[in-house]
Amino acid sequence: KVAPKRRKIVVLGSRSVGKSSLIVQYIENHFNENYYPTIEHNVPKTIKLNGIEYDCEIIDTAGQDEFSIFNSKHAIGIHGYILVYSVASRNSFNMIQPLYDRIIDYRGTEDVPCVIVGSKTDLGASQLYSRQIEASEGEKLAHQNHAAWIETSAKSNTNIGKVFELCLAEIEKGAQRNLIA
Ligand code: GDP
Repeated sequence: KVAPKRRKIVVLGSRSVGKSSLIVQYIENHFNENYYPTIEHNVPKTIKLNGIEYDCEIIDTAGQDEFSIFNSKHAIGIHGYILVYSVASRNSFNMIQPLYDRIIDYRGTEDVPCVIVGSKTDLGASQLYSRQIEASEGEKLAHQNHAAWIETSAKSNTNIGKVFELCLAEIEKGAQRNLIA
């Protein structure tokens, strides 16, 4: 029996877009309304894709701007990126392109497995916040950057598992192009 492949996935995006909530919903199956600022930490998780198990480490991050959100330690040894914006925040959406540009700049290649995530879709139906980013806009950004794209809600537990499966799938696509063993 061969040892499972190891995969490191980092979750990046503006403050309070729901990065921790996404991970907590995925790992612990619950949602918390309160906001607890994150200290960067790694969460282990075995993820199964197409019948194959992967030993994953999911890295929850805590940056404020594109420089601290993505720093050099997120360039090395990382297999896949999950870039999160909130569909209720134009500012958080505007952060995705500079973030992506910084990643490819540091890695020196555009061949970077990446999923762009529009979070908090449940807010679109609320009266306090309206949706600021349409699905078509998110999809277009992802297409331009050769990234996968999905919308989620950690609150209503929508598409959470799919985020990580999509990311692994992007990583495996890269692996087939002989990027990693
Ligand atoms: P982070 O700073 O990106 O890790 O963001 P958090 O996960 O800490 O979430 C920030 C705030 O947004 C918290 O108050 C969460 O309860 C809230 N939040 C996160 N995800 C969702 C969601 O899917 N829907 C709604 N309505 N609120 C969310």
